Amino acid sequence: MSKIVLASNNLHKIKEFEAILGRENIELIPQSQLEIPEVPETGLTFVENSILKARNASLLANLPAIADDSGIEVDALSGRPGIYSARYAGEECDDEANNKLLLKELKGVPLEKRTARYRCSIVFLRKYDYPTPKIFDATWEGFIGTEEVGKNGFGYDPLFYLPEFQCTAAELPENQKNSVSHRGKALEAFQMEIKALFAKKI
Ligand code: IMP
Repeated sequence: MSKIVLASNNLHKIKEFEAILGRENIELIPQSQLEIPEVPETGLTFVENSILKARNASLLANLPAIADDSGIEVDALSGRPGIYSARYAGEECDDEANNKLLLKELKGVPLEKRTARYRCSIVFLRKYDYPTPKIFDATWEGFIGTEEVGKNGFGYDPLFYLPEFQCTAAELPENQKNSVSHRGKALEAFQMEIKALFAKKI
């Protein structure tokens, strides 16, 4: 069985990765199990941050690594919070504070102007200094609602309204979210290339 270190300590993300990669013959080791500390996210793009996380985990684990950097881009806020989604309301903030601030910033903005998307960049690094990281990007389009609805998922999910399902991402069952979300789609693209990646064909 191939081993990959996952450069994330987010339990929700770990579950989403496991749900998809569990079908492959891959043992996913969350970096916290190896006591690998988080690396500062100093990049200016999702891809840069994802590479930083994967490189750190691969170096310290001496294993291939997979990382994701993700966030939400709100059009009425010129794409904010974007790469700063996790710390939108401050360095020590939580999901509740972030959602509260988002509702505050969008107060009075009509529904048709509340368009937003989740974005996810997954990076696979065969070795920490491998010169060609594999990048898998995906987005998930929706609207920011006017109140939190639903208890599933995490982060901005209770505010992320999906017209095609007529509910928020936090109302979708976990497996349904995984099949349509930004991370689900990026992971699916990764999954399609796994065999070739491990056979070192790409
Ligand atoms: P990261 O861990 O640095 O990639 O930060 C990602 C942040 O973006 C999370 O803390 C959430 O605030 C937000 N985010 C990313 N993906 C999702 C999702 O699937 N649902 C809800 N929020 C998400």
